[in-house]
Amino acid sequence: METTRLKARSGTPIGQEPVDAFRAEFKGQLILPGDAAYDTARRIWNASIDKRPGLIARCSGAADVVAAVKFARANDLLVAVRGGGHNVGGRATCDDGIVIDLSAMKGIIVDPRSRTVQAQAGATLAELDRETHLYGLAVPAGTMSKTGIAGLTLGGGVGWLVRKYGLSCDNVLSFEVVTAEGKLVTASPTANEDLYWGLRGGGGNFGIVTSFHYRAHPVSTVLGGLIIYPRDQSAAVVRNYREFMKTAPEELTAYAGFITTPDGMPAVGVVLCWCGDLAEGERVVKPLRSFGSPAMDAVQPMPFPVMQTLLDGAFPDGSRNYWKTAFLKQLSDEAIDTLIDRVNRAKSPMTGVVIEFYGGAPGRIGAGDTAYAQRGQEYNIIIAAQWADPAESELHTAWARDTFDAMQPFSSGGYLLNMMGEEKPEAIRQAFGGNYGRLVELKAKYDPTNFFSLNQNVAPPR
Ligand SMILES: Cc1cc2nc3c(=O)[nH]c(=O)nc-3n(C[C@H](O)[C@H](O)[C@H](O)COP(=O)(O)OP(=O)(O)OC[C@H]3O[C@@H](n4cnc5c(N)ncnc54)[C@H](O)[C@@H]3O)c2cc1C
Repeated sequence: METTRLKARSGTPIGQEPVDAFRAEFKGQLILPGDAAYDTARRIWNASIDKRPGLIARCSGAADVVAAVKFARANDLLVAVRGGGHNVGGRATCDDGIVIDLSAMKGIIVDPRSRTVQAQAGATLAELDRETHLYGLAVPAGTMSKTGIAGLTLGGGVGWLVRKYGLSCDNVLSFEVVTAEGKLVTASPTANEDLYWGLRGGGGNFGIVTSFHYRAHPVSTVLGGLIIYPRDQSAAVVRNYREFMKTAPEELTAYAGFITTPDGMPAVGVVLCWCGDLAEGERVVKPLRSFGSPAMDAVQPMPFPVMQTLLDGAFPDGSRNYWKTAFLKQLSDEAIDTLIDRVNRAKSPMTGVVIEFYGGAPGRIGAGDTAYAQRGQEYNIIIAAQWADPAESELHTAWARDTFDAMQPFSSGGYLLNMMGEEKPEAIRQAFGGNYGRLVELKAKYDPTNFFSLNQNVAPPR
């Protein structure tokens, strides 16, 4: 029997015949090892992850997703699901199994009257913003234009509008989902309510979302940009950021971060987005902008989709990445000083550390009301080791781990699911917090065989 490079989970090679039968009913693109498109199609954003799926099924719509799920189930395949391919832990790909790739499903329809958006799951934030911006609207999403809406929303989704309008998952009115059985269902407040609960922060555990129905908000031109200082001003700049954010209106989301500028200057900075009235925003952010002696202040009015691209250059495609994240109990002076000490020991100019503050809308929803449990947590740090040379991987990974360890005394014990790289099951459990037990029950109902295992996994009970 002629075989392919696709293997069942048992290791048994899959024959050509079932693949041909699948091809006959699949309308999108099937990409196999050896095809010209294979090497590009198997690549994900984090170049540290180098996996070789046996088959990439690039779906054209929900019917293809149903067909792919049934094919994978019939042949006992390891299944990876790909949205934007931006997950730092590389959960959108696998060796030998099938990648159900939604990246060609980018249909977006905006209804300006109801201020809602129907978006297929392969869209990126840039693609979503491009359509909503035509109507002066925006959906709360992340901070980088190339991230996929699917993974981001399913993990919660924090971004430039988070303090005013909440998490991305808080703005989902309904989901279209293909279950592990290969059925297309709706999850909303009135249909499969338990699934609707679990998809808002439970990650990719319960099905393949084919489209999201979002609530959008009137956001068009924002006041945004970066204020950069030489690194030796870090302690004062971060303390000032902390004090300022304590009373800042929710229209303002701002992060503090440590980077190296393109011309090689180690820097500390604040990046901000004000989504309210522009004149009021100018007045509100003035004290932040007039603090100290910035090397650069590029804060200015800009279209929201441009805001979403400001950090793109800091996270280029093809770089190698190892990230750690932790919520902090509070941003104490000691926490700030420890972080600065660690940042100054970073070994790669591409590496960055970000301090994010989410106080506002996310905390007004109860921790058990959606699967996203980390509602009361306000300060999150992202330790993003990034480098180009594969020979340096151990060096930068060790720096990120040591930095994470050094910050442990200040950690609240909670984690932001979306920013977690490869982590032990205990850490994933902590990210789900008090909702873990209910998620296990949901997994037992919707995916008892753990068909969807390549995610921040909630294992079904044995
Ligand atoms: C540079 C950078 C910046 C980021 N900024 C932010 C930010 O500002 N805010 C934030 O919240 N997060 C942010 N993230 C994290 C990001 O949200 C997560 O990595 C998210 O998983 C990416 O979604 P994706 O669709 O691109 O990922 P993928 O890698 O395609 O998928 C990630 C996970 O989601 C699952 N999945 C994807 N699509 C579906 C689907 N349709 N149905 C079911 N499961 C699916 C996958 O199986 C996988 O487990 C950032 C990541 C990077 C690399």
